[in-house]
Amino acid sequence: MKVRFWGVRGSIPVPGASTQKWGGNSSCVEVSHGDHVLVLDCGTGARALGQDLFTRGGRELDLLFTHFHMDHVFGFPFFGPIYAPGFKVRVTAPGFSEEECRQKLARFVNGLYHPVRMREIPCELSFHPLMPGRAVKRGIFNVQGIRLNHPGGSVGYRVSVGEQSMLYITDTAPLAREGEGVMADKPPSSSEARLLKLMENADVVVFDTMFSYNEYLEKMTWGHAYPEYARRLCELSGARHLVLFHHAPDADDEALDALAASWAGNTAPTVTLAQEGGSVDLEG
Ligand SMILES: [Zn+2]
Ligand SMILES: [Zn+2]
Repeated sequence: MKVRFWGVRGSIPVPGASTQKWGGNSSCVEVSHGDHVLVLDCGTGARALGQDLFTRGGRELDLLFTHFHMDHVFGFPFFGPIYAPGFKVRVTAPGFSEEECRQKLARFVNGLYHPVRMREIPCELSFHPLMPGRAVKRGIFNVQGIRLNHPGGSVGYRVSVGEQSMLYITDTAPLAREGEGVMADKPPSSSEARLLKLMENADVVVFDTMFSYNEYLEKMTWGHAYPEYARRLCELSGARHLVLFHHAPDADDEALDALAASWAGNTAPTVTLAQEGGSVDLEG
């Protein structure tokens, strides 16, 4: 299994000279196993992924959305495979019905916010609601969702094939109140306990660490976490590799270099930063 980062930013894409190294596109992560592809979120990074997919053999893929904030969906109408009649794209999103999932995306792929309407998309496009907590199969991938702590809601995913597993936990604030839960050395809150169970022995955990701890204290209701929180959850669950993700738009290359350096010595888990164009290979 391979995890590739096509967009690593949160909130808004920030292209330009000061973000060239770590990348300016918003959230889009590819999980692949051989020719099988599963895409997590469709931020602006999805455009380059779409182009890359045309150079490969597969003509079928799964697309999973955590939620519908712009930084996670804006790349969808620019994702090339949806315009290729031979492509089969299965969209999974939190929701109760197929129609609800379709409608949530169709609201902006409607001829007004984008020139193309959802019903005009030529690929074989299908929609699949996902209830957090229930394990489902998407192609060869085992997928399980979990409810996170974010304004309007967000769903994190565990994706596994055989013994290999990765988690995609964005966008979320800590799942316990300040002074409670694992960061206060107290028993985990019920939602922390659920997440810890899902993270158990994971190979890779991609986690929203948009804030520093101090920023989190100032913006607790914004729905984003900080590195020490993600690290603590990895320690407790035995997850081996933490990838810091959903970088703040203001975090330029210099700031992210400093963040990477400050975590370089951490073991159990290893801590690295998501970099656009970068990847983590679980096969070796
Ligand atoms: Zn976001
Ligand atoms: Zn969000």
